Amino acid sequence: MKPLIIANWKMNPQSLAEAERLFNSVKKGIKNIKEIEIVICPPFIYIPTVQHSSIPTIKIGAQDCFWEGSGPFTGQISPLMLKNLGCQYVIIGHSARRELGETDEMINKKLRAAIKAKLKPILCVGETEKERKKDKTFKILREQLEKGLKGISLFKVYSLKFIVAYEPVWAIGTGNPCGPKEAKEVLLFLRKFVQPLFHSNTRPLILYGGSVNSKNAKDYIDIGFDGLLVGGASLNSEEFIKIVKEASKD
Ligand code: PEP
Repeated sequence: MKPLIIANWKMNPQSLAEAERLFNSVKKGIKNIKEIEIVICPPFIYIPTVQHSSIPTIKIGAQDCFWEGSGPFTGQISPLMLKNLGCQYVIIGHSARRELGETDEMINKKLRAAIKAKLKPILCVGETEKERKKDKTFKILREQLEKGLKGISLFKVYSLKFIVAYEPVWAIGTGNPCGPKEAKEVLLFLRKFVQPLFHSNTRPLILYGGSVNSKNAKDYIDIGFDGLLVGGASLNSEEFIKIVKEASKD
């Protein structure tokens, strides 16, 4: 199976011209790589521009969405708005949003709304450093998954891809990635725990994210992760292209 590489640009870059430059140089660098699927998640306002100049190997995703379909929700973006712009994926429950107060219940509503609009959700889960030190990693992951995915199997998810990204909070943006041994333990746990929550026709993809770079990217694919969620390193086109090349190697 082709690894899935997701770029989360977070709140970057600062102008549309820079976003176009970054997107175009990634596009140029990966155009001959076939054994990979790439999703770029820019800030909302850059989506129409990058979507317009995209190529079949690069899909576009959003970094969040709201759970309501329309109405007086100032500042929010609905899943259908994203779908109508040509987005295919949406990140939900990123730790940066959880830190701002997003709860598992809100995440569950967003997942349901995204699935209804036929977006492919990328659910982020992960423990903090304190939780890991207290040996609570699996307890936290179980809670985030149980609450976040509550009732989701009732939806016809099997016609969509469903992605779970393991992103230990302590590894995000710190340059301190989760070691392969610990990451593998979590991968095995997630595979066992997540699959039964879905219709048997859906094989949820499990990704790793947290300080991925061109030197460690391949390690996570070799361990068995279905792909990577790349933050900081996706803002440097050369480094991101290297990550894509590494991850696509046999
Ligand atoms: C992220 O923001 O999802 C992420 C994984 O960031 P970084 O790669 O910078 O750790």
